[in-house]
Amino acid sequence: MQPDDSFFADRIARLRAQLTSTGTDAICVSVGADLPYLVGYEAMPLERLTMLIVDASAPPLLVIPELELARVVVRPDVFEVAAWGETAEPMDLVAERLGSAHRVAIGDTTWARFVVDLLALRPDLELTRSASVMSALRSVKDGAEIEALRTAAAAADRVISQVQSGEVGLVGHTEAEVSAEVSRRLIAEGHDSVNFAIVAAGANAASPHHHRGSTVISPGDSVLFDIGGTYDGYCSDITRCVSIGEPSPEMADLYSVLFEAQRAAVAIACEGSTCQDVDREARRIITEGGFGEFFIHRTGHGIGMEEHEDPYIVEGNDEPLVAGHAFSIEPGIYVPGKHGARLEDIVVATTDGPDQLNQADHSLVVVEG
Ligand code: ZN
Ligand code: ZN
Ligand code: ZN
Repeated sequence: MQPDDSFFADRIARLRAQLTSTGTDAICVSVGADLPYLVGYEAMPLERLTMLIVDASAPPLLVIPELELARVVVRPDVFEVAAWGETAEPMDLVAERLGSAHRVAIGDTTWARFVVDLLALRPDLELTRSASVMSALRSVKDGAEIEALRTAAAAADRVISQVQSGEVGLVGHTEAEVSAEVSRRLIAEGHDSVNFAIVAAGANAASPHHHRGSTVISPGDSVLFDIGGTYDGYCSDITRCVSIGEPSPEMADLYSVLFEAQRAAVAIACEGSTCQDVDREARRIITEGGFGEFFIHRTGHGIGMEEHEDPYIVEGNDEPLVAGHAFSIEPGIYVPGKHGARLEDIVVATTDGPDQLNQADHSLVVVEG
């Protein structure tokens, strides 16, 4: 994606419409994904302040440390820049630029120190979370964003396929070793960074976010892989399980219920369903299969520039799915102390069906290790 000025100007225009419709006077974003979404620049997560201020009328202002300026693609038609030197007080620039604004959205991942400093200068501000303004924009992906997610998903699929085909040594290796190898392959397949590479063998797979450790993978284990990274600014996230040798009848039964639940949830993940409808569909099948008490998390999360963002596929979220929503569908069954499995794809909602980005084999593939 090579966005130009008009691409970002359009996003600022849509942001302003959101400010108006939510009764928000201005928005300040800093570290995190909102800033690159709006102006194409990602702030260094440092104690030096970088902050973009946007309101309804004046040109957006990017307050940035002078030494970072060289990394900014300056777009004078889209935003102005205030570069500050090492001895300046950059929050003064922000406080001043906010003028008479009262209700101000602040980036969800803005460091607390900056929020504290801003409120010290402007105790009159009523702060809200930036998600209240940005979610409506960022959760509905445009065509280029969907293609970026598809590219990232395809790269993660290739790594999973390498695991499923037996190319990655498993038996006799620790989870940590396999995680390192899978991470290396995510980069080799084009990712810029690895965000996580969960490898959980045997009973460890009963812990959804198990941290890969010193457990040595053995014949008879089923091994869960949940891997993802960032590829040209957009995230991948996929989970598959493989069985070292034929699975036990119990594991095969568990997996067939999980497979059916995930397939059914994907099938209704399009316009006409709400987020919670999708969660309920997966949960219904897992409960009917006798594993309801072992499905202990929501069915999915939105994905884009961040691994977890709106919309969340969870009971209580009655937001209707619209074309362009991109999210995971990842039911899991976790039997404590015994075994567990999860099956995850990234799906984009369209008007007439789900666009399933991950294509890697969905079955419990048997590998010899
Ligand atoms: Zn997770
Ligand atoms: Zn995942
Ligand atoms: Zn996920």
